[in-house]
Order: sequence, then C-alpha cells, then structure tokens
Amino acid sequence: MPDTRRRIAILGSTGSIGRQTLDVIRAYPDRFAVIALAARGNVALLAEQAREFHPQLVACTADDPATQRQLDELLPDALRGLDALTTAATHPAVEMLVAATSGLVGVLPTLAAIRAGKTIALANKETLVMAGHLVMPEARRHGVDVLPVDSEHSALWQCLRGERASEVRHLLITASGGPLRTMPLERMRDVTVAQALAHPTWRMGPKVTIDSATLMNKGLEVIEAHWLFDMPYNKIEVVVHPQSVIHSMVEFVDDSIKLQASLPSMHLPIQDALSYPDRLDRAGTPLAHALRWPELARLDFEDVDLDRFPCLRLAYAAGRRGGTAPAVLVGADETAVALFLRGALPLTDIPALIETALERHTVVDDPALDDVLAASAWAQDEVLRLRGLPLRDTARENSGSVGRVGSVGSAAGG
Ligand code: MG
Repeated sequence: MPDTRRRIAILGSTGSIGRQTLDVIRAYPDRFAVIALAARGNVALLAEQAREFHPQLVACTADDPATQRQLDELLPDALRGLDALTTAATHPAVEMLVAATSGLVGVLPTLAAIRAGKTIALANKETLVMAGHLVMPEARRHGVDVLPVDSEHSALWQCLRGERASEVRHLLITASGGPLRTMPLERMRDVTVAQALAHPTWRMGPKVTIDSATLMNKGLEVIEAHWLFDMPYNKIEVVVHPQSVIHSMVEFVDDSIKLQASLPSMHLPIQDALSYPDRLDRAGTPLAHALRWPELARLDFEDVDLDRFPCLRLAYAAGRRGGTAPAVLVGADETAVALFLRGALPLTDIPALIETALERHTVVDDPALDDVLAASAWAQDEVLRLRGLPLRDTARENSGSVGRVGSVGSAAGG
C-alpha cells in the first residue's frame, strides 16, 4: 500500500497550537505523518514529541548554553539556529507547513515554504498582520493555499466555501469580549494581571490572553481577515458573542447569514486545515466534542464598546493606513503587554502607548520585509522610551534567541 498520509512540518510544535496539532495527528495516524518538528527552547517536550512521531528532521532555535547542553544530551541530531526553521519548512518531503511559532520568526520560513509550493496552515498572527501584502501575493504567484488555523478565520473560510466574494456584504467576526466585557469602566485602570488572564472561554498563552482582554486580538484578526479573504475593512465587522459558540458569520447581499458553530476548542480549526478539503469524523476519537443545542442556555450578541476597547479602533486605523502601520501596532502592543504582564503598566495604558507610537511613526508605504521588521522594532523601543525605560529592557528577555522582535508573540487562539 502506498503511503497516502499528508506529510506535515510544524514550526512551534511545543507551543499551545503545536501541541494541539499533534493531538489531531495522533487521533488520525492513517491520515497524517510528521516530517519535521521545530521549537524554541522546550527541549524535553520536543524530544518526547520526536520519540512519539518519528520526524525526519527536528530543529531547535534557542542558542543559550543550557539549551545546547540539553540538545547534546536529548536530541544530538537536531538542527540548531533560526535557519533551521526554513530548512524544516521547506524539507522536500513536506506537503503542508503548520506555522505556529509566536512572533515574527515564522515569517521568513513561511515565505520560503510558499516559494517551495507547500500548503500553509497559518496559526501565526504577525505573518499576515505585518506582511500580508508580501505573503498573499507570493502565495497567489505560487498557487499555494494559505489555510486559516484561527477559530474565527476557520469559521469565515467554511462559510465562504462555494460562495462568490462579490455577493458578500459583511464578514462578521465574533469576539467573546474577554474577562473585562462587563467590568465598570472606571475600574479598568486597576485590572490585575490575574484578572486579565482569566479568560472566560479560551485557554491560551499569556500574550494572546491579554490581547483578548483588550480586544487587540480581535483587531489583529480583522487585519488578518482583510488579507486572507481579500475584503475591504468596511466589509469586516466585529460582534461580541460571550459564549464563543458561533465562531464567525458571513452576511450576503440577499440578507442571508451563514455561521459556523461548535464548542470552543482549537482542535477543530486545526483539524479542518490539516484535512482540507476532507472533513474527518471525530466520533470515537479523543477529540470528540459535539455541540448539543439543548445544553446551551442561550446565545448572546452585542455591539463592541469602543470606549472600553480602544485597541480595536486602533487596529482598524492601522489596517486601513497599511504600509508599516500594522507593524507598529504589533510592536507597540507586544512591549506594552509585556510591561503589563510584569506589573509595570496599568492595562488601560496599553492602547494609549500604541496610539502615541502610531502617531509618531512615519509610515513606509508598500514596505519590504526589512522595513516591516524595522518598524516593529522601532515601536517596541518607542514604548520603552515613552515609559522612560532603558531600551535593553527585560520586556525583551522572553525573546530567547529568536531575535529582538516577537518576544512573547501570539500564535492563534480564541
Ligand atoms: Mg481567534
């Protein structure tokens, strides 16, 4: 029997999305094969994954001495350094790249994989938010599909299948509203890190959870949707839906609305990208998680309160401005969130700092990747300068060896 399994590389295999991707692969051993695994610094878990999934290539990007010693011991054959991500993404046996690294390190390997004709399952937000103008034309040139691995974009993608773009009136992206949706506005300034991390419906990493509390995550998703579905911003709306059961909707010109519903779990959008165009039966698998309508007490929808969530307004503005503005949005948010997580900033100062950085930035139109990276790095520094903090600040200590941009990053979630 020929081996017909889809051959997959995962960048960021030890992160939240990477681990859940391997859950899906584990549930369908006759459908998927792991060709390459790449991670940053969690060598113990990477070694465990390698023992279970037998990839042809393992890569680790952290270059600190402790990680190197661990690699020598547990994964002596692992490729090392940032270039290894591109080697993994473009391995000749790979058909599909799951791009689930956090931050900006995934952009170059993703572009390389597109040029090598690999299908992209995209979980990394920065790639399209900052470089959508480079990535999507490149994908079209090479006839490569960029498939979403975020719950909202997966929902939009499913609703749009078989439809004409010209007949779409609006993409309606749902937002849970996060843990601060109902908090009195005057108390927002005193929100603790623990309160902001207590997301009501999704379990995710700290950066994306804070971005969900400020709705910056939704703003980044609006910009992603603009690039993924080639939709103008005036056709993309956000609807607050606290239960996170409707993952997004598409309204058509005839007033009809299609929506995608399922219990909140990242396994499903991951699985749908991995198996596309097939849908895989989950009954009897450990992933089974079917929605029972009678168990749902209610589904609520409300408008977004932009006074409460100015980050969403800033994201729309940066997306509409284009050029390097989204890179500044991402860079400023990254540092501001890192400062908040350290207790060095009230939550409500996050949008204020981003807004000031955007105002002070001179936008480069139609930027090359280097311009994008420079703008993001400038914005990270600018937030530190605005707070009177030294530039080599611990806000970047999380970045390990993966470069100064993209420290705590945001693989998709919620
Ligand atoms: Mg999401």
